Amino acid sequence: MATIKKERFEGFVDFEKKFVVSISLVATLFSLIGFIINILLDFDLAMKIIPVVSFVIYTVLYFWGKQSKDASVVKWVFAFITLIFMNLLWLNNYGSHGPAPYFFILLFSLLIFIWHGRYLLIAGGTLILNVAIIFYFDFNNPTFTPDYASESDRIIDVYTGILLYALIIFVMMSSAKNSYINEYKKAKRSDALKSAFLANMSHEIRTPLNAIVGFSNLLSSDLIPEEEKQTYIDIINENNDSLLRLFEDIIDISSIDTGQLEIFPEDCDINNLLDNLETMFTQVLEKAEKPEIQLISNKLSENRIITTDKKRLLQILTNLLDNAVKFTNEGSITFGCVDTEEALLFSVTDTGIGIKKSNAQYIFDRFYKAEDDQSTLYRGTGIGLFMAKSLTELMGGEIWMESEPGKGSSFFFTVTEP
Ligand code: ADP
Repeated sequence: MATIKKERFEGFVDFEKKFVVSISLVATLFSLIGFIINILLDFDLAMKIIPVVSFVIYTVLYFWGKQSKDASVVKWVFAFITLIFMNLLWLNNYGSHGPAPYFFILLFSLLIFIWHGRYLLIAGGTLILNVAIIFYFDFNNPTFTPDYASESDRIIDVYTGILLYALIIFVMMSSAKNSYINEYKKAKRSDALKSAFLANMSHEIRTPLNAIVGFSNLLSSDLIPEEEKQTYIDIINENNDSLLRLFEDIIDISSIDTGQLEIFPEDCDINNLLDNLETMFTQVLEKAEKPEIQLISNKLSENRIITTDKKRLLQILTNLLDNAVKFTNEGSITFGCVDTEEALLFSVTDTGIGIKKSNAQYIFDRFYKAEDDQSTLYRGTGIGLFMAKSLTELMGGEIWMESEPGKGSSFFFTVTEP
């Protein structure tokens, strides 16, 4: 529950940040257009200086918001500065005779987009108080703000004001609508993936469980010769391991979701690790009845012992190699490591079925399985690559892949020492 709340809040912050950045950009353009109009209508000096100053300030806010983490300070500065500009505009742009009142409404709708909860109430309350004060002042001093030089000037100014106002509302509403549509699509996709995961899970659990129950029953039969019983015990052990790995993966996923997965750095001999993987996957290929696939391991020319989480590094490589075995029917699987200046670069390359471009963007998503080949059933839950990505990033590295359908895939990831 706490995580859901946190995620929802993070989603808001992300949207609010994006919004304040794009609206600062719109305000920059708005200031520029305002400046040009005021020059053309030959307004007084103040009305030419205000847009120039606002142009500079909003440009600064745009870049500041872009590089800040959650833009929380930028939001307050943005709202405060905009409120000052609104009042200056009201004062210099003919009070309630001109377009200034519309912009107060615009600022009010803006606040809804950049804040929520308590902050929205504070900011909204301040704005209403501000409008109430200028109303009181205007009501008691109706001649304080001068009138336009001519009625046609007023009409041009009010209507261009409305036009800009409509433009900004359009940008705001479209960005809110797009963000809503994207979130809706994401939620739908995640829901569909979760349902597919549950369906796969029941299959992934039932298959080894059936084997365990079936062969355990056979073990109690006196009719089965002893040497055959040993084969059954091996099958039961194998299926036990596969069940255990599945449960460990599920526990790991929930630890990642709750931010509780920890990294335990220790000494790790890279060439030794690659040697062990070579032995392990030679057996895996034999068991998968693919012994003709060539397994090539590229070790470091100068071995390194680095400080990293050995168990997790092995887990990433095992997940990638498991996939390479699963999705390759002939050719070779090459894996290894090279020492670049900045990091150790690991890779797993196969000559398997490859991944279509349209699927490539999703394959690191959790529960995602690209089911293009309907003629073959590839077992799996769609969590292997998600785990590999999450673990790599947790260890401070990056993961990516290159693939050509029908020719094969290469997965790369980097490991740096903490
Ligand atoms: P799983 O293998 O359990 O389905 P993964 O998260 O490990 O889940 O992989 C997600 C999907 O990415 C796979 O279903 C498969 O479509 C694709 N994929 C992963 N590795 C490879 C590979 N080496 N070759 C082809 N496709 C792959």
